[in-house]
Amino acid sequence: MPYRSPVAEYKFVLAHVVGFEDVSSTETFAEATPDTVDAILTEVGKLAEDKLAPLNRNGDLYPAQLENGVVRTSKGFADGYAAIAEGGWIGLSAPADHGGMGLPLTLTCAVNDIFSGANMALGLNPLLTQGQIEALEHHAPGWMKELYLPKLISGEWNGTMNLTEPQAGSDVGALSTKAVPNGDGSYAISGQKIFISWGDHDLGGNVCHAVLARLPDAAPGTRGISLFMVPKYIPNEDGSLGDLNALRVVSLEHKMGIHGSPTCVMEYTDATGWLIGEEDKGMAAMFTMMNNARLAVGMQGIGIADGALQHAQAYALDRKQGRTPLHGTPENTGAIVDHADVRRMLATMKADTFAARAIALACGVALDMSKATGDKGWEARGAFLTPIAKTFGTEVGISVAELGVQVHGGMGFIEETGAAQFSRDVRVTAIYEGTNGIQAMDMVARKMMDGGEMANTLIDEIESFAETARGDLPDLGGAVWNAAETLREATEWMTEQGALNDRFAGAIPYVMGFARVLGAHYHLRAAMAEGGEGPRTRLAKFYITRLLPEHVGHLAHATCGADDLYALTTEDLTA
Ligand SMILES: Cc1cc2nc3c(=O)[nH]c(=O)nc-3n(C[C@H](O)[C@H](O)[C@H](O)COP(=O)(O)OP(=O)(O)OC[C@H]3O[C@@H](n4cnc5c(N)ncnc54)[C@H](O)[C@@H]3O)c2cc1C
Repeated sequence: MPYRSPVAEYKFVLAHVVGFEDVSSTETFAEATPDTVDAILTEVGKLAEDKLAPLNRNGDLYPAQLENGVVRTSKGFADGYAAIAEGGWIGLSAPADHGGMGLPLTLTCAVNDIFSGANMALGLNPLLTQGQIEALEHHAPGWMKELYLPKLISGEWNGTMNLTEPQAGSDVGALSTKAVPNGDGSYAISGQKIFISWGDHDLGGNVCHAVLARLPDAAPGTRGISLFMVPKYIPNEDGSLGDLNALRVVSLEHKMGIHGSPTCVMEYTDATGWLIGEEDKGMAAMFTMMNNARLAVGMQGIGIADGALQHAQAYALDRKQGRTPLHGTPENTGAIVDHADVRRMLATMKADTFAARAIALACGVALDMSKATGDKGWEARGAFLTPIAKTFGTEVGISVAELGVQVHGGMGFIEETGAAQFSRDVRVTAIYEGTNGIQAMDMVARKMMDGGEMANTLIDEIESFAETARGDLPDLGGAVWNAAETLREATEWMTEQGALNDRFAGAIPYVMGFARVLGAHYHLRAAMAEGGEGPRTRLAKFYITRLLPEHVGHLAHATCGADDLYALTTEDLTA
């Protein structure tokens, strides 16, 4: 089943649902005209369909291998990667003065969605480099920017992110990798990192590791962490590759999915590194990289949801089983798509993919507006939407891929159809870049330190649009307005809890409830944009009638507090 890039869908959502015209109206992003956006989406779409998607199964069947200390990637991946780099897609949103295109992050979101739908394992490589580019742009010294940024932006070199150690996963502050000053401005980095995506490969150039480590006598926890650039080959001043650094890949992980992406255990033994940002301020620099990557991982979930949906649609039109209620009618296809339960699954997949995509793109628009205008309101909106975009985008990726398996019946469990690969590949997106639990805790704690102001601003907007929509679509507008009020009550409860653990106990259900309501808002916008009649209105009706009511359960769960969780003893939970 060939992958079809969602180019038309993107054009509609950008133009009619998430307000991308605000971005292209700014001086910073004046070049992002509809024609430019069209050309980018078309080119990226072709690359994904013609070059990346055909390599997807190959990556799954023939994972990257470690041979004599060097990682050999799946057959064809080097060509696929070269096509991504040559297109300039890695540096789409990177600064123009270092060779990037300086275009909005929202468009990079589109690219990451499309690349992930076609081939998530390979698409993960540029995504990491993009995060590193942003961290260097904001925190690196001038010489490092001059030396590294042009090569990372062109794709000649790649960037990685080295946080995780065996004892330091979600608790990054527990890391123990050491950095000792060499006295010449460089540092000797020693320690072991695990789970490092694309930690080595044979795609050419240099592998540039952004490594979190601790200086001698650094404070414990996250306050004593610094970030270092530790390249595989130490570059000469002219950018040519010099000596091999003192680092190596110890082993590759055998994973549930994204087999084509080498996940490395890395060892650094007095490897030479240079400080990015200030000593002990590594978390700030790493957060720049991680925030970028969080939204990008949300896009991975959405891309996979789209790929899985496309597979399921084709199978449902092709597979014939039993008589259906449509027999003898002109609508009858004779295939399983005519069965009510299969329709329920396809409609859920389609409606949720739309909702997750709209939320993530609205987040991209807010971050672009923040960059273009320096306005604090846009900044707060982007920060608030990021954990929702990551969590909901990846949860939708997982549930849609799972439904995709179900639509295929027994063939979904057989690897050849590709339905199972989507389900296996997307699973990690809820785990890496901060588990979804950690994202949700960030949302109900740090992102609500404003007393719920940003949450209520969004709720006001949802209600105001629902009020307007009531004229044309009274049932839908009314349902969305009521749901927004329930969300307001849950938000009030959340902000009133002084004990953070009471918030944390309901963090995931709160994020999911919030996303359900936001998703309804964007469906309503789509329905209104087509005049309240047509396929988008029918899909909006399905979402608002059948999926939106889930917010009630989520928000009831969100506002229970933590006491009952601790009334269950550890023995109750584990016996
Ligand atoms: C395929 C793959 C690729 C990866 N790529 C990279 C990479 O390139 N670079 C990198 O640095 N890392 C990478 N990682 C690591 C990834 O970011 C971590 O696995 C993730 O952050 C979770 O850490 P952990 O595995 O130690 O789980 P743990 O932190 O042990 O978490 C286990 C469970 O406990 C929960 N939990 C933990 N702490 C808390 C808390 N305070 N409150 C509530 N719940 C909590 C978690 O949500 C989770 O459900 C990758 C992982 C995988 C699987």
